[in-house]
Amino acid sequence: MLTMRPRGTNDIMPGEVETWQYLERQLRHICGEYGYAEIRTPIFEHTELFLRGVGDTTDIVEKEMYTFIDRGERSVTLRPEGTASAVRAYLEDKLYAGPQPVKLYYTGPMFRYDRPQAGRYRQFHQFGVEVFGSHDPAVDAEVIAMSMDFYGRIGLKNLALHVNSVGCPACRPHLRRQLQDFFRPRLASLCPNCRERYEKNPLRILDCKESRCSELGAEAPTTIDCLCDSCLTHFASVKKHLDLLHLPYIVDRRLVRGLDYYTHTAFEIMAPDIGAQSSIGGGGRYNGLVETCGGPPTPGIGYALGLERIILAMKNQGCAIPRSPGLDVFVVTAGREAEHTAFHLLFKIRRAGISADKDYLNRSLKAQMKYAGKAGTRFAVIIGEEELKSDTAVVRDMDAQEQATVAMGEVIKYLQAKMRHAPRLP
Ligand code: AMP
Repeated sequence: MLTMRPRGTNDIMPGEVETWQYLERQLRHICGEYGYAEIRTPIFEHTELFLRGVGDTTDIVEKEMYTFIDRGERSVTLRPEGTASAVRAYLEDKLYAGPQPVKLYYTGPMFRYDRPQAGRYRQFHQFGVEVFGSHDPAVDAEVIAMSMDFYGRIGLKNLALHVNSVGCPACRPHLRRQLQDFFRPRLASLCPNCRERYEKNPLRILDCKESRCSELGAEAPTTIDCLCDSCLTHFASVKKHLDLLHLPYIVDRRLVRGLDYYTHTAFEIMAPDIGAQSSIGGGGRYNGLVETCGGPPTPGIGYALGLERIILAMKNQGCAIPRSPGLDVFVVTAGREAEHTAFHLLFKIRRAGISADKDYLNRSLKAQMKYAGKAGTRFAVIIGEEELKSDTAVVRDMDAQEQATVAMGEVIKYLQAKMRHAPRLP
């Protein structure tokens, strides 16, 4: 147990972590361009927030939350998603009183107790955005297009963008009735979960992954059949704005998404080649959520993208993932005295902005050179007895296999000049 991580979690190790850092740079960059500010909320919240904010008929709340009683006898939950926390912060920090819309983004770990499999973990990472305070369908299109822009920038291709409208409180009761009428004669054949959903939230039956339920639901009335005029107009405008950007999408009448809070636009993005867990992101509008959480009526929309699945898709599609460039310099020494000189030089090199390291295992000069080569170091700066006497160092270019003797006081300048002339290719 001591040497095993909990089921459904991952270590992100050197070699892999560069991909994560690359994605994090890209997502911060795109958020800057689109005018989103970062928000960092706690990893855990009062359980009540998710019961209200995610919805107590959802799989997340019913089955998947990491909930525990803390030492102060309060029920807290590791966040299963980011929207509820963003809404809580929007209210707690009174962002609604400032200029609207408020555009926020977040990235970090989320926790759901689900059966782990490829692409499904108990701790996974999301990147998400939320926009509060605007009803404009152009915002729906911006949010959708931004997610597709992000995937495009990291080189993902052949993605399927599914969009739908799930209606609003005005058309939901109609849809609910229609769905209950449709499923009533089929109730006995639905899975036990869906039999419960029939009463609590029949819309979610359309989202069931059980094959008998999806077969039974194939002919069910869809959300689009039941939309009110205002929802139809909104949806038409979202599509119009997506068309203006020439962004291809599929209207997926069965798309309802797992969370209760969605109204109007819902969307999901699938990658074709990562197996059963093919959804690499999704989102939608949640115009009632801020109010449900105790705030003023405020429209909202957002998405969350799953970083593990994005990385899986990038690997499968052979997307270029920049590799770590490795150390610039390894300082190689022979003898105790040289080690002191080297230790001092090492810190000067680093302060000059050049990455550097030295041996800490008392290896022989030959073994140090071998280690520097294996570690992919660009230069070895070698200080032996000869160099100590003449106050010099040998600078060896490991790629070009050339070396020069350089005055100790000139080593940094020499390295800088070399690196300027021939920067290392990523
Ligand atoms: P959701 O918050 O359920 O709408 O999920 C948004 C995205 O997060 C999904 O499209 C997945 O890419 C990712 N995701 C959700 N649950 C998991 C999980 N258990 N493991 C890995 N990724 C997940």
